[in-house]
Amino acid sequence: MLLKTEVFKVEDAEKDRKCIEICAGILKRGGLVAFPTETVYGLGANALDVSAVEKLYAAKNRPAVKPLSVCVADLPSAERVAVFDDRAKLLFKTFMPGPLTIVLPKRETVPGLVTAGLDTVGIRVPANDIAMMLLKLSGVPLALPSANLSGKGSLSDGSEVVKELYGRVDAIIDAGKTSVGTVSTIVSLAGEAKILRVGAVPPEEILQLVK
Ligand code: AMP
Ligand code: MG
Repeated sequence: MLLKTEVFKVEDAEKDRKCIEICAGILKRGGLVAFPTETVYGLGANALDVSAVEKLYAAKNRPAVKPLSVCVADLPSAERVAVFDDRAKLLFKTFMPGPLTIVLPKRETVPGLVTAGLDTVGIRVPANDIAMMLLKLSGVPLALPSANLSGKGSLSDGSEVVKELYGRVDAIIDAGKTSVGTVSTIVSLAGEAKILRVGAVPPEEILQLVK
């Protein structure tokens, strides 16, 4: 299905607040918005809205067996979607906002579609002013996979996201190149601490805190 995609060129979250307000409204109404984080661009949808999440899988051509991680603004919001133990709180306080995703037991508020039926959810807080303002203004947790078609590489430049997702999403915030450019490290704390994907945070920095 072809959607009318609005592209917003954004340089600075405060200066371009109006664009971010519009995008937050789109997310609240169940739409899809691609936007930068410090790692790569993400494609966001309200994680509590099943039909928004269905659209997200369709826009990426992503098989529904691959779970989506969830992006939030702060610890209280994170604790509404996942169950934090002391190890998780320590990692959260040490690395977030930042390029780390922590997989934790999920709360019932998160639809099973988001996590592909798993009883865990990946949580992340982006260190990016635009992403943070979008999260605060939309007021909902966002399912946030990388903003690219399934099977393709993640994108760290807004113009590449426009090329790949134009016509498939409601809006794209193009803020140029992301600052880190590589994906987040993923650690599971659902049982013993386990690195699931190596990314921007070195695994040993994580494992020395939560063995
Ligand atoms: P992407 O969706 O491209 O941003 O990549 C996120 C990665 O996190 C994917 O490989 C997912 O499979 C993985 N992931 C997300 N949620 C979970 C989870 N609950 N358990 C294990 N892996 C997860
Ligand atoms: Mg990806």
